Amino acid sequence: MPRYEYRCRECDTQFELARPMAESGAPADCPRGHADTVKLLSTVAVGGVSAASAPVPAAPQGGGGGCCGGGCCG
Ligand SMILES: [Zn+2]
Repeated sequence: MPRYEYRCRECDTQFELARPMAESGAPADCPRGHADTVKLLSTVAVGGVSAASAPVPAAPQGGGGGCCGGGCCG
């Protein structure tokens, strides 16, 4: 089950909830009992690849020093 991050606008508490995707947009109650919460952009990769942590594939070398593989860089 994917996890979603929420933040309470009343007490500024940030919390996570694991809930079905279908309910990702449903209001989430703050752990302290407030209902004025906002959903944050999920930082959890579900069925995807995190571009920030994925290793960068080695760029093809040997293009004679071109910076973009022989294409014009402008
Ligand atoms: Zn709260």
